[in-house]
Amino acid sequence: MERIVIVGGGIMGSCIAYYLALAGAGAAVTVLEPDPTYEFAATPRAVGGIRLQHAVRENVEMSLYGDQVYSAFAEHVRGSAVEFDPQFRRRGYLYQVRGAQSIAALEANVRMQRAAGVEVHVLGVDELRRRYPSFRFVSVDCAALSPADGQIDPYAALMGFRKAASGLGVTYVQDRLVGLEISGARVTAARLASGRGLSVDTLVNAANCWAPEICAMVGMPVPIEPVRRQQFFFLTQQRIEPIPAMRRMDGLGVRVHQDGYICGFTNPRQPSGFNWDLEHEVFESVLWPQLAEQSAAFEAIKPKGGWVGHYDMNRLDGNPIIDRFDTVPNFILAAGFSGHGLMHAPAVGRAVKELILDGGFRSIDLSRLSWRRVVDGEPLADDGPKA
Ligand SMILES: Cc1cc2nc3c(=O)[nH]c(=O)nc-3n(C[C@H](O)[C@H](O)[C@H](O)COP(=O)(O)OP(=O)(O)OC[C@H]3O[C@@H](n4cnc5c(N)ncnc54)[C@H](O)[C@@H]3O)c2cc1C
Repeated sequence: MERIVIVGGGIMGSCIAYYLALAGAGAAVTVLEPDPTYEFAATPRAVGGIRLQHAVRENVEMSLYGDQVYSAFAEHVRGSAVEFDPQFRRRGYLYQVRGAQSIAALEANVRMQRAAGVEVHVLGVDELRRRYPSFRFVSVDCAALSPADGQIDPYAALMGFRKAASGLGVTYVQDRLVGLEISGARVTAARLASGRGLSVDTLVNAANCWAPEICAMVGMPVPIEPVRRQQFFFLTQQRIEPIPAMRRMDGLGVRVHQDGYICGFTNPRQPSGFNWDLEHEVFESVLWPQLAEQSAAFEAIKPKGGWVGHYDMNRLDGNPIIDRFDTVPNFILAAGFSGHGLMHAPAVGRAVKELILDGGFRSIDLSRLSWRRVVDGEPLADDGPKA
């Protein structure tokens, strides 16, 4: 039987393992994951948004499949995973834009999203103020509302897929990949930090921000870098109407989280790389005033801390690379999700299973998310909401 080694047991590696196992290959799959607590992994640090609005068709289709799976988890993810409930809730997503060029881009994206089956409405400022009376919608010309967008508990989803994969015969090994043996343009073995070696027929790199160092082992220069994403959690004194996840063109985002709200922020001046500092002073001096400008309810708030995580940012175009490496074809990369990996993980799991067992993509054609576009320096055009 073919020996498949998956590097990284986060949501991506676990979904890939699960779909391989569902197709009967579980006994052939080993997932390498050094940290069962997932302390620094992105998955438990995600906010759980399942967003249907994207500018790239493949991202919309992957989100729609993610929606199907997460919204009926016990039905889709078989086995003992049912004890983990990702608590899918439909909260909606509102992408607000300003200026003629951005309105034209939003309308073109909405046409594509509708053609793919997404319910999405374009709303003017009067209608926005009617629906969300606590908000002023300053510096906004119009917005696209997709009311069905969801939110889940990322950790429960990860544990669900991990447990289901294990239940179908997948082996999780608590160890770190430190080297690869290559012979005749094929990966033949994986070297682990413990000193152990594993024979390999197919190696899948699902190591997210750490994927580039594994790509380097086969000479694959990927433009993926860790980019710090800060999340600030706060409570409000004033109760307001239910709101969708709100996102402005300038990047300011706010959404419901537990009994309060979170505001996500990527500092445009920060260099790439791991940085675990939460910039409280930036929240107070920059973000809070912007939130207060949006809504009087955000003028009196109680900051309750927050957390930091890192996007595996694909600097070429902010979209993933899901492909075999042409120079070493039994090395498959699934990384560069740039803040969308949780919503796309079920579709990627199914797609990588298709690459390995069925000879190519069958359900969603992901051939544009190729390694070739990186080699050719041809980014996918993407003028949609970012993360
Ligand atoms: C703050 C924040 C908010 C986000 N919000 C959302 C959201 O709302 N919606 C959404 O869809 N996405 C969101 N994302 C993105 C999402 O979290 C990621 O795209 C997704 O979790 C990536 O999953 P993964 O399994 O690839 O990575 P990870 O969860 O990071 O897992 C990778 C694993 O690889 C392991 N590893 C590393 N090196 C090695 C090695 N050498 N050998 C073996 N294993 C190794 C690590 O230990 C780690 O557990 C967010 C991300 C952040 C940081």
